[in-house]
Amino acid sequence: MIKTKKRGDLIIISGTTCAGKGTVIKKLLERHNDIVLSISYTSRAKRDYETNGVEYYFVTREEFERKIRDGELLEYNEYAGNYYGTPRKEVVEKLETGKDVVLEIEVNGAKMIKERYPETVLIFIMAPSMEEVKRRIKMRGAENNEQILARFKTAYNEINQVNNYNYVVVNDDVEEAVKKVESILVSEKLRVDRIEEIFVENQEEIIHEFLIEKEFVNEERDI
Ligand code: 5GP
Repeated sequence: MIKTKKRGDLIIISGTTCAGKGTVIKKLLERHNDIVLSISYTSRAKRDYETNGVEYYFVTREEFERKIRDGELLEYNEYAGNYYGTPRKEVVEKLETGKDVVLEIEVNGAKMIKERYPETVLIFIMAPSMEEVKRRIKMRGAENNEQILARFKTAYNEINQVNNYNYVVVNDDVEEAVKKVESILVSEKLRVDRIEEIFVENQEEIIHEFLIEKEFVNEERDI
């Protein structure tokens, strides 16, 4: 009776640094074949544990700026001194195959996407406290003090932009956080504005049959 749009959902998952959004997304992808992650371009240096083409496509600033000029990016932003951007073609193609596409991007990029594509689902993942963020940044130990400070300041600014999002999930327990994101995505599929068409089959016939069953209508006289 209901025909829904076949296109997948565009989902943005942002969060303060060290909020654990990467882990939440990883678990989400492991459990749902119909959800895929968009791999961004970045000009930031690759960390030891990262692989080109897995976490990001690592490119030079020059190559990134060429992509901006050629309109290859759906959105981009400079964050803590490096460029980050979403590839346009891959995202559009994946959405058209009916897959839901997750963009793990920061608040300014999210805002840009929301303005252009208002039907995007925006989820913000928060760490339980800033003390916890500080502890996790130090534990990761991948950056110098200046970079850590820049990330910490950015985290404060980001929290002030939560009202641009549709949902906020506090990650004090990863399993619980994943469940919450899953229920958001299920609810989004049930939104009335996702319905393309509502049609009622054989309405007259069904009412007639129903009335006959209830002996409200004398079938012979009716014919
Ligand atoms: P990180 O350097 O820790 O991997 O990422 C820094 C920030 O950049 C994170 O908040 C991450 O979500 C964001 N980010 C990653 N890819 C993109 C992107 O394509 N566009 C934008 N605007 N932000 C991104």
